[in-house]
Amino acid sequence: DVYAASPERYRSGMKYRRAGRSGVLLPEISLGLWHNFGDVDTFSNSKRKLHYAFDQGITHFDLANNYGPSYGSAETTFGQVMKSSFAPYRDELFISTKAGHDMWPGPYGEWGSRKYLMASLNQSLKRMNLDYVDIFYSHRFDPVTPLEETLQALVDIVRQGKALYVGISKYPPEAARFAYRYLKERDVPCLLYQGRYNLLNREPEEEGILQDAQEQGSGFVAFSPLAQGLLTDRYLQGIPSDSRVARGGYLKKEALTPELLHRIAALNEVAARRGQTLAEMALAWLLKDNRVTSVIVGASSVEQLSDNLKALRNTSFTAEELSEIDRIIKG
Ligand code: NDP
Repeated sequence: DVYAASPERYRSGMKYRRAGRSGVLLPEISLGLWHNFGDVDTFSNSKRKLHYAFDQGITHFDLANNYGPSYGSAETTFGQVMKSSFAPYRDELFISTKAGHDMWPGPYGEWGSRKYLMASLNQSLKRMNLDYVDIFYSHRFDPVTPLEETLQALVDIVRQGKALYVGISKYPPEAARFAYRYLKERDVPCLLYQGRYNLLNREPEEEGILQDAQEQGSGFVAFSPLAQGLLTDRYLQGIPSDSRVARGGYLKKEALTPELLHRIAALNEVAARRGQTLAEMALAWLLKDNRVTSVIVGASSVEQLSDNLKALRNTSFTAEELSEIDRIIKG
């Protein structure tokens, strides 16, 4: 049957924040397709999650060339839904992709060369059934390729009309500052810095990434805001067989130390006192900072996504709650 977007999608409680000094508003919660949307996953579930997300006002979908598994298959999944469901809504969607990590064999299938970035984006557009993406990222800093080459490829991709905006992900602070300057001088300002940020990983605060992005007029989007599922109630009762840890990926069983589980249980109690699940509180904690434009969540079910959206109901914290949270994590 044919999908029709909910007429209530912009009245469902979603809020939008401006990405730095730009014309772009992004939903406070965006959906990422790194895992849970590949050809190893059930297509009908992937489609259901995408429909549900858009119906709730999630207009921003985050992809990359190698998301799956297998590589490319998340983009293919998205492309199928784009064609069957989202085509009439293309102008209501803000779609990203990236290149930088391992994608195809040989010397031109990873890192930051112009050769790789240009070829990869052409492939991504085909898989996603798109003429252009809204934002194209350099997915990681390449310490060997001259940064000018990578950044000029981003500029030219915009000039070619294949992306409307560009961004950088996981760049060290100094390289990020170089990128902001280089791109701005060519009138293709860096729209977004995408970095890992969650209760357990404070690097963007500690390394000045958030501060620099704000000063440069770039937005900041947080990935793995739930630390891949650690910052939820998922692992408090053991390891569920359908969980990311059980399925075996980047999140290893070894990460679930007794100390960490103890901290997670304590955080879960703080969340309960706030009337939130731990996942909701972890997302709210990121959104309390206005420099965070959006948090990009992953979800293996519609139920998780629905829980995560409830975070928006309360994103403020008392000073006592904040110091208690920090004591639990750092103490
Ligand atoms: P999260 O930290 O949001 O982890 C998502 C996982 O947490 C889900 O798969 C699920 O685990 C669990 N989860 C989510 N919601 C709930 C809930 N309400 N209750 C219980 N468990 C829940 O994000 P990801 O690590 O998936 O990253 C999000 C996105 O960020 C990616 O899809 C990608 O777009 C982007 N990203 C970018 C990177 C970069 O280098 N730029 C790197 C990594 C991610 P389970 O599957 O076990 O159910």
